[in-house]
Amino acid sequence: MENKTALYIHIPFCKQKCLYCDFPSFAGKEALMMDYIKALCSEIKNKVKKEVSTIFIGGGTPTYLSLECLYELKNCLDGIKKTHDVEFTVEGNPESFSKEKLEVFKSMGVNRLSIGLQAWQNRLLKSIGRIHDLNSFTNSFKLSRDAGFKNINIDLMFGLPGQNIDDWKETLLNVAELNPEHISCYSLIVEEGTPFYGMSLKNKLDLPEEEIERQMYEYALIFLKKRGYEHYEISNFSKHGMESKHNMVYWSMDNYIGCGTGAHSFMNGIRYRNIEDIEKYIYMMNLKNSAVVEEYTNTDKDNMEEFMFMGLRKINGISKNEFKEKFNIDIHSVYGTVINKFLNNKLLLEDNERIYLSSRGIELSNQVMCEFIL
Ligand code: SF4
Repeated sequence: MENKTALYIHIPFCKQKCLYCDFPSFAGKEALMMDYIKALCSEIKNKVKKEVSTIFIGGGTPTYLSLECLYELKNCLDGIKKTHDVEFTVEGNPESFSKEKLEVFKSMGVNRLSIGLQAWQNRLLKSIGRIHDLNSFTNSFKLSRDAGFKNINIDLMFGLPGQNIDDWKETLLNVAELNPEHISCYSLIVEEGTPFYGMSLKNKLDLPEEEIERQMYEYALIFLKKRGYEHYEISNFSKHGMESKHNMVYWSMDNYIGCGTGAHSFMNGIRYRNIEDIEKYIYMMNLKNSAVVEEYTNTDKDNMEEFMFMGLRKINGISKNEFKEKFNIDIHSVYGTVINKFLNNKLLLEDNERIYLSSRGIELSNQVMCEFIL
């Protein structure tokens, strides 16, 4: 059994909901912040018994927490054991960065920041419901560098309504000029239940055509490579050695503990899910010291499927030996037919050690991964 683990901490507060967002985050719940943080800290104390090798405070908008809440969280996190080389990330949105908050993060041991920019153009930011503008993003980036953060990710999105290929090129160029250590590029997915979903049903969402979206992704691959970024996961690019260790835990199916509303944990083959509602979370934590509402023991079949479709997200794919060690069976005995099909049509490639997506396979990754469901 592993003696270290990864820790995800969820902060469910946002100043305003973005029009595309289906994450468990809420606007207008600021009055609950301190009670939430107290409940969260007891969950962290209960659950984290091992040394942690990565911590990721995500959301929602962690940088939206008040200074008092951040100090409360710092006190709790100061008490947990961390490996000497822990990767400790905080996610944030530009409008809520401040020098004081960055100082608290530094004093907590945070050594990586992830800033949600999404697009360089103010008109696009507005049209997707972001509350920051370009100016507040450049300020937040500068504040972070001035505060001494040497590992920064910038989140970008493509396939946005009204976005053309020149907008995307301009975004990538300007972001690369800032020289962050890591860049994520996600395509917009119109999720059910979001305002964008309603707009798309009424044909009021001017999305770029699929072919344009494909060109945007392809451009990012070529451009970011030229600028010294390694493509290590379908949507993620980093300077050499600056991959997100925390996300690699998910893609490699290693153990992680999730704390906070809606957080998931995966420990020794068992999945746990916390309640999403903030009030109910606080109530459950106060009443019975647990907010878990679902527990599921993965079958071997689940584990194999997850190993494949999470692992294939990594550009170097999955290790055939690791599959054999984990499941005690040769990968070809389980997935021979589907692997051969995708090797024949060149969506997958195979060498002595690994199986991975080809360039075309990366573009059609959803199609490939679906077929690994047993
Ligand atoms: S800031 Fe992030 S979590 Fe909050 S509403 Fe926007 S996309 Fe969702």
